[in-house]
Amino acid sequence: MSTQKIAIIGGGVIGLAVARALALQGAQVTIFEQQLIGAGTSSTTFAWVNSNGKQPVSYHQLNALSMEEHARLQQSQPNGLRWLETCGTWEWAAEGEAQHRLQQRASSLQSLGYPAREVTLDELQREIPELRSQAVSGALWHFPTESVLHPALYLARLWSEARAQGAILHQHHTITRLSEQANGVTLHLENGEQWQGDRVVIATGRWANQLLDSLNLNLALLDTSKPNAIACSFLVRTAPQPLSLSANLISPQLNVRPDGGGRLLLQALALDDLADPGAPPPITGEIAQQFRERYQSLFADAGELQIEQIVVGQRARPADGLPAIGFVTPQQRVYLAVTHSGITLSPLIGKLVAQELLEDTPSALLGDFRPQRLLGRNVSEFAPIKRNFPAAQYSHFILK
Ligand SMILES: Cc1cc2nc3c(=O)[nH]c(=O)nc-3n(C[C@H](O)[C@H](O)[C@H](O)COP(=O)(O)OP(=O)(O)OC[C@H]3O[C@@H](n4cnc5c(N)ncnc54)[C@H](O)[C@@H]3O)c2cc1C
Repeated sequence: MSTQKIAIIGGGVIGLAVARALALQGAQVTIFEQQLIGAGTSSTTFAWVNSNGKQPVSYHQLNALSMEEHARLQQSQPNGLRWLETCGTWEWAAEGEAQHRLQQRASSLQSLGYPAREVTLDELQREIPELRSQAVSGALWHFPTESVLHPALYLARLWSEARAQGAILHQHHTITRLSEQANGVTLHLENGEQWQGDRVVIATGRWANQLLDSLNLNLALLDTSKPNAIACSFLVRTAPQPLSLSANLISPQLNVRPDGGGRLLLQALALDDLADPGAPPPITGEIAQQFRERYQSLFADAGELQIEQIVVGQRARPADGLPAIGFVTPQQRVYLAVTHSGITLSPLIGKLVAQELLEDTPSALLGDFRPQRLLGRNVSEFAPIKRNFPAAQYSHFILK
């Protein structure tokens, strides 16, 4: 068992997954969160747990192994709390080129041993009786091992287990800067206090550069403060709808997933050029109307879409689309863990980061994802990589 004293900055899925894994191995863990648990991207996410269209193969492998980690964690839950719904995904694509890419992706997933099966329209309509047949085009695919996740419940599990092992959480505590010494690290809090210990993990997602800056470091991370369809996306939450959808649906019109009690969570990636985090649209405006029309075009006799909230999700996305995970300072006291697809990746990342911190042995699984490839570089130096998005409506990004 370790007796290291380790701080985690950030109470999202990455910070809490790392905190849990470290606490389970006996580290003295203190979490600092500037607002509340889940206040960042972890609560404004589509939260589809998948390894669908994730490249290169090492990234696919990381996601696929983390899906297994998620299943194990859910199975080990002692009460009935369910955050992981392994409901599978149904998907089709709009037209020729997009259909060809879907076919290629599904075949390549099959060759990697990832469950993917072509299905008929009859089968899909048995699953979703309200689906309009004219809304469907090309080959239909089913990915049965994929899940949707309820972030608040997942965060509750991570935190309750960390807390049971003695982890301490300070909410409404902002870290303003970090400094590294030969024998430890110092965190400077906005309230004037300091924290000293052996190591710190920066798990502040899209805010990572604010703290890296105090170490004279900068990571090529997408700017999520203004509209950019790769960085920002509309997420629409609905009232309970009379729709028999029990799985995740990825279609050219909408991505639709169940969100508990008949509620739905929707995305329409084709609209995301308009997603401005500074001005989330009203539930009565033009964007809301677009979502309603798309819903009507997909489903018959499924009620009018009752939108309760539209938010603009802001991705924590390194410029090449891949995770940035590892030590960033000479004394190896400061560790960075920033990634897109963090909902999928967090349980495995938590485990691997804890191993690296406590055993001082680099993980081969993280070898392709070290932050050094992104440090001191600008986002503009990277090609506008559009991969590693949810497979959904992928054509929009390729064809633009
Ligand atoms: C629209 C959208 C759709 C997505 N869909 C999926 C999906 O389908 N599947 C999937 O796997 N992933 C998806 N993601 C990505 C996933 O949600 C993120 O990768 C993940 O939530 C990142 O978690 P995090 O803990 O790194 O960051 P966050 O949840 O943002 O947590 C960082 C925390 O750090 C805190 N913080 C920041 N600075 C400080 C400071 N100085 N001091 C103290 N605290 C600080 C913040 O308040 C925040 O709570 C999606 C993201 C978006 C935006």
